[in-house]
Amino acid sequence: MSPSYTGKSIALPEHRARKRFGQNFLQDDNIIRRIVAAIAPGAGQHIVEIGPGQGAITTPLLASGARLDAIELDRDLAAWLQSRFADVATFSLHQADVLKFDLASLTTSERSLSIVGNLPYNISTPCIFHLLKYQSLIHEMTFMLQLEVVQRLAAQVGDNQYGRLGIMAQYYCQVDHLFDVPPGAFHPQPKVTSAIVRLTPHREQKLVATSTSMLQDVVRTAFSQRRKTLRNCLKTLIQDIKPDDLPVDLSLRPENLSLTDYVNLSNTLSAARQ
Ligand code: SAM
Repeated sequence: MSPSYTGKSIALPEHRARKRFGQNFLQDDNIIRRIVAAIAPGAGQHIVEIGPGQGAITTPLLASGARLDAIELDRDLAAWLQSRFADVATFSLHQADVLKFDLASLTTSERSLSIVGNLPYNISTPCIFHLLKYQSLIHEMTFMLQLEVVQRLAAQVGDNQYGRLGIMAQYYCQVDHLFDVPPGAFHPQPKVTSAIVRLTPHREQKLVATSTSMLQDVVRTAFSQRRKTLRNCLKTLIQDIKPDDLPVDLSLRPENLSLTDYVNLSNTLSAARQ
């Protein structure tokens, strides 16, 4: 590790993990090494770390020479991180809520950002939806999440966890479930198993929705009543269209349609509104 990137060794003042900020700090060196290896940081990379906390992965990421923008909401941890890495020229701290953070303020270059983070579990789904708005700026995202959320992200039609999160994530990204992390890797220990997932925005979008807001509307509306038939749960969206003109069988349930089916349905609805 290059000494110029290690930052100062400043003891963290007594910090009790704050539940409202979803704080579970990584303590396991082996897991930290595996996460950093999955990110494969290097000089020339532009990393955005969400919730660096006590800097468990921040330090090795900076040691690679990467430029790192850290977004941390907790004011005390932000102040500590600021002094800990004050002498590291490639480090910038933003004391901010990631859900309100404008990633476009960091770069205008397409596919330049590597987003990483052991996300606070209470905001992981809204955080992923927020970041997907910037997918053209993102090279890849490597997150620690609750295992159950990773299963939802990777779920295929027919799987129990299949739903809105997986469909929208897979519309924009390739989803890879990398490895699981036990509760004992953290302090305090969470009640659930965690997992590392990589989301890589598609270089070429094979399936194109003519309106992504229509696709989101259709998927959200369908899964708000996932036990009903499509005829019932999509009633308000399809009322002006003859069933024969729709590319899907309305007697099916939302969980029976693939991503391709949702894109085709959304494109038919967009065309009908023009
Ligand atoms: N990265 C550290 C680690 O692995 O040990 C900490 C991970 S902890 C699960 C989540 C971190 O996200 C905490 O540092 C917490 O303060 C921060 N956080 C919580 N809500 C946030 C938000 N809305 N925006 C940015 N950071 C947030």
